[in-house]
Amino acid sequence: MQTTTGIKNYQWHNLPADKISYLLETDLETGFTNLEATAKLSEYGPNQITAKAGKTAWLKFILQFNQPLLIILLSAGLIKALLGEFINAGVIWGVTTTNAAISFIQEAGAEKKIHALASAVQTEATIIREGKKIKISSTELVPGDIVLLTSGDKVPADLRLIKVRDLQIDESALTGESVAVEKSTELLTPETPLAERENMAYAGGFVTFGQGTGIVVATGNQTETGKISQLLEQRLDLTTPLTRKFNQFSQNWLFFVLGMATLTFAVGLNQRGFKDAVEPAIALIVGAIPEGLPAVITVTLAVGVSRMARRHAIVRKLPAVETLGGATVVCSDKTGTLTENQMTVQEIYTGRQTYTITGNGYAPEGEIIYSQEPVDSSNRPPLQECLKAGLLCNDSHLEPKDGNWVVIGDPTEGALIAAGNKAGFIQQALERLNPRLDSIPFESQFQYMATLHQMRGNNIIYVKGSAESVLKRCGQMLDSKANSILVDIPSIQEQVDNMAKQGLRVLAFAYKNVPATQRSVQHCDIEAGLTFIGLQGMIDPPRAEAINAVHACQAAGIQVKMITGDHITTAAAIARRMGFRNKNKKIVAYTGAQLAEMSKLELADAVEEGVVFARVAPEQKLRLVEALQSRGEIVAMTGDGVNDAPALKQADIGIAMGSGTEVSKEAADMILTDDNFASIESAVEEGRSVYKNLLKAICFILPVNGGESMTILISTLLGRELPILSLQILWLNMLNSITMTVPLSFEPKSPGVMKQPPRPVNEAFLTPNRIKRILAVSLYNWTLIFSMFEWVRQSPWGSIELARTMAIQALVMGRIFYLLSISQLGISLVAKLQGSQEKVTGAPAIAAGVIAAVILQIIFANSQFINSIFQTAPMNLDQWLVCFAASIPMIAIAAAVNRFDPPN
Ligand code: ADP
Ligand code: MG
Repeated sequence: MQTTTGIKNYQWHNLPADKISYLLETDLETGFTNLEATAKLSEYGPNQITAKAGKTAWLKFILQFNQPLLIILLSAGLIKALLGEFINAGVIWGVTTTNAAISFIQEAGAEKKIHALASAVQTEATIIREGKKIKISSTELVPGDIVLLTSGDKVPADLRLIKVRDLQIDESALTGESVAVEKSTELLTPETPLAERENMAYAGGFVTFGQGTGIVVATGNQTETGKISQLLEQRLDLTTPLTRKFNQFSQNWLFFVLGMATLTFAVGLNQRGFKDAVEPAIALIVGAIPEGLPAVITVTLAVGVSRMARRHAIVRKLPAVETLGGATVVCSDKTGTLTENQMTVQEIYTGRQTYTITGNGYAPEGEIIYSQEPVDSSNRPPLQECLKAGLLCNDSHLEPKDGNWVVIGDPTEGALIAAGNKAGFIQQALERLNPRLDSIPFESQFQYMATLHQMRGNNIIYVKGSAESVLKRCGQMLDSKANSILVDIPSIQEQVDNMAKQGLRVLAFAYKNVPATQRSVQHCDIEAGLTFIGLQGMIDPPRAEAINAVHACQAAGIQVKMITGDHITTAAAIARRMGFRNKNKKIVAYTGAQLAEMSKLELADAVEEGVVFARVAPEQKLRLVEALQSRGEIVAMTGDGVNDAPALKQADIGIAMGSGTEVSKEAADMILTDDNFASIESAVEEGRSVYKNLLKAICFILPVNGGESMTILISTLLGRELPILSLQILWLNMLNSITMTVPLSFEPKSPGVMKQPPRPVNEAFLTPNRIKRILAVSLYNWTLIFSMFEWVRQSPWGSIELARTMAIQALVMGRIFYLLSISQLGISLVAKLQGSQEKVTGAPAIAAGVIAAVILQIIFANSQFINSIFQTAPMNLDQWLVCFAASIPMIAIAAAVNRFDPPN
C-alpha cells in the first residue's frame, strides 16, 4: 500500500493515466469500491484544508482595545489614578474591560454562528464509485477517486486530467491568472511550471466551460492550494453600510466631544482647581460616547442572520442582511425559483399532428391522446421518433424513490423520459440498442444539446433545444408517415406560439444521419441540414408560495422581474399567471436579442418598464443589473449557473441557489437553501426588520448620551455641582444600556414591514426627523436629571449622593417608558387599546430587559457595596415614587416624537 507521504513526490503531470491508476491502485473506468474508498479515507484523512491556528483568543481580546474610544476611556482612568482616585480609576478600567469583554464574546459568537451557517452549505463532487456515477461530499474524496467535472463545478482536489471536452478552468485563486485556462490531457515535461500544467486541475479552481474527468492525486493539505495557504485565517467582516456610516459619524463625533471636553476643562480650571476640573471633562467624554452601542449592533445583525437562516436564506456576506432590507428590485430566474421545476410534457406536435399527454409528475402513468382518443404510438412513426429523440438525447434518468419517481439530472429531460415511458419506451433499453458515441452537452448559451448514436447501417445525431436554435438548422421535416419533406417553418412556428401562449416550455427535436465512420459530434456537424422531428411542450407550474411572495414584494414597493432563458411567450404567460406587473400595472416583455440592440439609455428605460426578460443569455444579466443600478435601484439578482457569477457580484445582493453551481454560490451574498422565490421575500422582510431594529437601538441609546452631555456641560458652565459622575455615567451607558437595548435586537417584525415602500436609497441614518427625535428626548432627559438633582440637593434631607442617585433613577424610569414607546410591545399594546385586531408581540424580550434593568437599579441604590463604589445612596419608597412620578411626562414626549418620526 502507498503511504501518505509516498505519493507526494510524483510529478503527476509527467505520468500517463495508466501509470497513475497503477500507482494509486484505482480503476479508471469503475473507480474505487466503497470498501477501498473507506480504507483510503482513513489512510489519507478527509479532503479538508485545516485552518492555520489564527490569532489566539487573548490576542484578539487585547486588540479589542485598539479603538480610539476605549483608549480614551483607559486614559481617563489613568488620569484618575494619577490624581490618587484609585477606586474611580479601578471602576473605569473595570467597566471598560467588561464592556470590551462583552463585545468580544458577542462578536466571536456572531462570527462563529455566521461561519457555521455558511459552511453548512456543502460542496459536492461527482465521482465514479463501484462503476457508477455518484455525488459525494467533497470532504470524502481520496487520492485515486475518478472525478467528473462540468461547467460550474469547483475543482474539489488536485486532479490529473484524463479526459477533457473544451474544459476551461479559472485558476486565479492559485495562479493569479485571471483568464480561464484551456485544459488538455497531454503529457508534460517534469519542469513545466504549475500555471502551465494544462493536464492538471487544482483544488479551488472553477470550471467555467466544458467537461472533464480527472484522477484525484492530492487531497486536503497536500493540494497545491493547501500547501500555500493552509487557509488564510478567515475573519469575517462584521460591518454593514449602516455600521460604516455610524463609525464615520462616531469618528467625527469623537473630535467634537474632545473639543467640548477641553472647553469644560478650561471652564472648570477657571472656577476651581486642576483636580476638580478633571472630573467634569472626563464625565463629558464618557457621557457623550455611546459605549454600549457596538455590542448591541453586533447582536442585532447576528439575530437577523439566524432568522434568515431559519427561513432558508443563508447569508454569506454580512452587509446583505441590511442591504436586503433596502432592495427596490428583485430579479429572479423563472425555472425552479418562481416555478416548481417539476416538468410534465402535455403536448407533442409531430407529423403535423398535435397530441395531448395526460398524467402528472415523472410517473410512467398517463396516455397519449389524439382527437379525444388514446392512441397506440407504435403505428405512429413520427410520434415514436419524437419520443425516442427525447429519451436518447438526454443526460438524465428517472429513479423510484419512496414510492415516487424522481429525476436525477435536469427536470426538463426528466419530463421527456416520462413522456417516452408513457408510450412504453424504456430509456436503458433504447440506449443499449443505440449506444451513444459522443455528445455535446446542453449549455444555456447554445440552447441545444446533441448526441451521436450508433444505428444499423449508419449513425444518427439527435438534437434537442429551443425552437429558435433547432428550427434554423432544419432543411426538412417528417410528415405523418415519417417521410422527409421540405420543412414548413411558418406552420411549426405557429405551433410553437400556441404552446408558449399556454405557458408551456417548448423543446424542438431534430436528427441527422451521418456515416457509420463518424465517431464524434461537433457544433459544426449540426450547423445545417437537420430534419425536424417534432415539438414537446411541458408545463412547469408556478410555486404557490412564490405567487404570494411576488404579490407581497409588489405591495412593499419592490419591483419583481423575471429573467429566463425560456421563450418570451411562455415566460409572459407564466408571469401573467403569477401576477407580475410593472409600475403601470402592465406586463411588458423583452427578449435578450431586443435588449442587445438597445443603447445604454434605451436599456435603462426598458429595464424599468419590463417585467419579463426572455431568452436572456447569462452575460446579459450583468448588463441588466448595471442598467437598473444606473437608475438608482438597489438590485437583488438570482443566479445558479457559471455565467451568472459576474451579475451576482455586480448586484447589490447576489442570491445563489442551494442547488446551483459552486461558482455562483461563491459569488453570491446569500444562498437560498430551498431555491424558492418565497425565501427571497422572507429575507427582504427580515432585512427590513434588522434595519429597523438597528435604528431603534441607535434612537434609544443616543438620547441618554445627549441628556448626559447636556447635563455636564450646562452644570459646569453654570458653575454648579455635577448631577452625575463619570462612574455613574459608565454604569448607565454600559450596564443599563446593554440590558435595555439588547431586547430591541430581538424585536419581532412589525405587521407593516412589507406594506411600506423601500427606504430611500442612500438615506442617512440620522434623518432630520430622527435628529429631532433624539434632541427632544435628550432635552427631556437633561431636564429630568438636572431638576431632580437640584431639587433634592436643595431640600433639607438631600445629600449630594442621594441627589445624584435619584436623578439617575428618574432618568432610567423615563427610559423604560421610552423603550416601550418604540418597541413592538408598546406599539401593539397602544394599537390594541385603539381597537386593533393584531396580536400583541415582543413581550418576553422587552419584559426581560425591563426587569433586569429594574433589578440593577435597585442594586445601584440599595446595595452598600455599590454605594461605596459608585458614590450612590440608598432610597426609601417615597423617593422611588417621586422618581417614578417625574418620569411619567416621558409618555407624552414619546407620543409626540412618535407622531413625527414613527418608530415603525
Ligand atoms: P431557463 O431554465 O431559465 O428556461 P435555460 O437557459 O436553462 O433557461 O434554457 C433555455 C432554453 O434552452 C429553454 O427554453 C429550452 O428551450 C432549452 N433547454 C433547456 N434545457 C435543455 C436541455 N437539457 N436540453 C436541450 N435544450 C434545453
Ligand atoms: Mg435551465
